[in-house]
Amino acid sequence: GLPQPPPRPLAERRVSRRLHVGPVAVGGDAPVSVQSMTTTRTSDVGATLQQIAELTAAGCQIVRVACPTQDDADALAAVARQSTIPVIADIHFQPKYVFAAIDAGCAAVRVNPGNIKQFDDKVKQIAQAAAAAGIPIRIGVNAGSLDRRLLEKHGKATPEALVESALWEASLFEEHGFRDIKISVKHHDPVVMVNAYRQLAASCEYPLHLGVTEAGPAFQGTVKSAVAFGALLSEGIGDTIRVSLSAPPVEEIKVGIEILESLGLRSRRLEIVSCPSCGRAQVDVYKLADEVTAGLDGMEVPLRVAVMGCVVNGPGEAREADLGVASGNGKGQIFVRGEVVRTVPESKIVETLIDEAHKIAAAMADA
Ligand code: SF4
Repeated sequence: GLPQPPPRPLAERRVSRRLHVGPVAVGGDAPVSVQSMTTTRTSDVGATLQQIAELTAAGCQIVRVACPTQDDADALAAVARQSTIPVIADIHFQPKYVFAAIDAGCAAVRVNPGNIKQFDDKVKQIAQAAAAAGIPIRIGVNAGSLDRRLLEKHGKATPEALVESALWEASLFEEHGFRDIKISVKHHDPVVMVNAYRQLAASCEYPLHLGVTEAGPAFQGTVKSAVAFGALLSEGIGDTIRVSLSAPPVEEIKVGIEILESLGLRSRRLEIVSCPSCGRAQVDVYKLADEVTAGLDGMEVPLRVAVMGCVVNGPGEAREADLGVASGNGKGQIFVRGEVVRTVPESKIVETLIDEAHKIAAAMADA
């Protein structure tokens, strides 16, 4: 029955300094947040806001926008003002856009020290401007654009090199009394990335933004991110996450949320417990699971729905769930919180499950 107690976390959360990206707390005991980045030209304010609205609807909590040109910098104020979630400006190469983003009212700025020439000389001004605006800075170190000096020293983008770059830049901000910093040390290889974040986590108290960079197309990128984030988050490391996929950004949000839900770091909305099917199946489990998933898309209440192919594990799992079906002999036994409420022909299973789900949701809304 509902509500279900949250699963126990795998590890104590690492202690990090709390900061705020707009209204979203990051670090400390704040829930791990999910973010993405728009793919539109930021200068196209309408298209950018439209994509931000889609991301927000999918559960995105913080959005980053690119700022490669003056036209983009000029659009930041309109985007930041009208966005439904806090906007972070992503700045490479041009320090002047950092100041433009701060003036535009962005909730934070991401800088890549490896890509900004004489970045170190600009830190004082950036720290002062960010402090005056009350916004944090993300130091976003990336294997593909590591500071030349560190690349020469370490030979390649090792975990040590990524961490040294990040901590060096953080120390420059600290010299100016600025500590509203979060850090990322991204690499395309989950093993290097996990080791880099572990070292970073042990060396500072800043909140960490997790990312496997250039993770690849949806399938590969999803697995890489899930494996890497799973390793770190299960050790209590990570305060905000961005899944990078060569796919529409809404997909990144779906994957990010699923990762957090799988680790028990946020409560589930809909969970489909469906069996993989086997030679005993008496119903097309894949089709049934897809149809039930589609039919219940957008349900706001947390529901665990079991879709089982036969009676071996079927009744057991269906009983454990809020709602379930165990199929057999062309029929489906429909369970609601452990009780068989109806037995329907196979053709009616999906609509009956959806019908019962809405009844449960309505009862929960009344409660
Ligand atoms: Fe096979 Fe039945 Fe288990 Fe599904 S529930 S995997 S059909 S034994």
